[in-house]
Amino acid sequence: MGFGMFFIVPLQAGRGVKVITRDNIASPTALCIKCNCRTRSHVLEVAQYEEYEELIEDELEEFQGRKKFVDEEKEQKFVIKYALVDEPIVMCHKCWVKKKDQLVAAMELNHGLWLENMSEHLLEAKKFLKDWKYYQLSKESRGELEVKVKQLKAALKEEYV
Ligand SMILES: [Zn+2]
Repeated sequence: MGFGMFFIVPLQAGRGVKVITRDNIASPTALCIKCNCRTRSHVLEVAQYEEYEELIEDELEEFQGRKKFVDEEKEQKFVIKYALVDEPIVMCHKCWVKKKDQLVAAMELNHGLWLENMSEHLLEAKKFLKDWKYYQLSKESRGELEVKVKQLKAALKEEYV
């Protein structure tokens, strides 16, 4: 006794703001994080949208008076709408190619060194792999590059075992 439970249920339960990504539509454009040109060539972080419902008022006024006698709830139609809350983080192709070349060069230069002594280069290697993923280079890397990335990942993993 005495431990009653109280739930405060807002009238518009379930109508809270929902922030989502929309993977089935093309990204909106935004400014390249390097050179500020407008682009969507490489989407590094997808846009965030707020999902909300909007009442459709498609009935003619003259009919509405009569229809009010019918279940009012059922007369209301909602359409799902989206408002952009966070622009995507993007890079233009020109800047991306530069970034890619930089990372590939860093890999060529350091790969051997990192593998030889991973414990000393833990942070560098970790940062490198993070960038590699962030700039979506895994899709691009084949053959020798792919092998090298895999070796680095494996060596990093071993350090944490
Ligand atoms: Zn750019």
